[in-house]
Amino acid sequence: MTELLLEARAAQKYFPVQKGLLFAKTVGHIKAVDGVSFSIEEGKTFGLVGESGCGKTTMAKCILLLEKLTSGQVFVGGRDISKLNGEQLKQYRGMVQAVFQDPYSSLSPRMRVRDIVAEPVVVNRRLSRKELKERVTEVMGVVGLHEEMGNRYPHEFSGGQRQRVAVARALSLSPKLMVLDEPISALDVSIRAQIMNLLRQLQAQYSLSYLLIAHDLAVVRHMSDQVGVMYLGKIVEYADSNELYAKTLHPYTKALVSAAMPSEPGVRRDEIVLSGEVPSPLNPPPGCRFHPRCPFAMPKCSEGEPALVEAFPGHKVACFLHSDKVAQPEATTVSSNGKKPS
Ligand code: SF4
Repeated sequence: MTELLLEARAAQKYFPVQKGLLFAKTVGHIKAVDGVSFSIEEGKTFGLVGESGCGKTTMAKCILLLEKLTSGQVFVGGRDISKLNGEQLKQYRGMVQAVFQDPYSSLSPRMRVRDIVAEPVVVNRRLSRKELKERVTEVMGVVGLHEEMGNRYPHEFSGGQRQRVAVARALSLSPKLMVLDEPISALDVSIRAQIMNLLRQLQAQYSLSYLLIAHDLAVVRHMSDQVGVMYLGKIVEYADSNELYAKTLHPYTKALVSAAMPSEPGVRRDEIVLSGEVPSPLNPPPGCRFHPRCPFAMPKCSEGEPALVEAFPGHKVACFLHSDKVAQPEATTVSSNGKKPS
């Protein structure tokens, strides 16, 4: 049976907005992540998808401990990550690694590639020079880079090779979870498939779990087992990846699906064009946060907030079009296995 590796429960991250210089006063909060729950099983991929500013990167930063949650919890390996310290915290930092969108800005231009790949090991582990060299050679080989490439600097590599270096660095500590924040969106279309295939191959080889963050639903579909669609800090639809495409429920997800490239050439799709911009998370609209842009909005949509309810087994949606048909109490938690956490 597959074990849960990560579980986020009602995670909230609010950023205070302050006014004044000497006597700064908090005048509001940016609700970047507002009650998000999901889980990731060992060896599986959970995709978080949504437009820029929907809170998916903030959620990832909280998991990487680059930001502290305002409330809620994240458990990894059964431990609340906000309570880790000392050796446990060090172990956690090795167990969870990240690959970011732009490999050029995430790799130090002054360091040779072998030192970039070795850096996490040097900081976190005590290895002899020989062991360190062997480890660097091993992970570079695993991502398809020759040992002698370690003497070069990042600017001497193509975008795809730089992303391979970033993956090798993330792999160097043998992590269990990798946060992939838009890992291919800065790359040429021609090499995106190579990096996606590499990530899938590494997942199978090392039983890695991935939290994949992307704005493009087609990428998420290709890579993910389960998908959570985020809008203005909340998950509005959750389902198995194939189910989400085959039975899209939420109007926002429908718009994302219609904007994504078809999986097969010649497949026709009715495009849903969203009007307006994503509202500010400082002052989100009342009721359903999507109502100012929703082509199906009803009067009640601006009055009350739809709960996330299970419309089909393992498939949850927060929309009155569907929740009115579902006779079940409020369900605020999504899980990669479709279960509610205890
Ligand atoms: Fe649209 Fe209303 Fe559903 Fe929100 S609750 S997505 S506004 S139909």
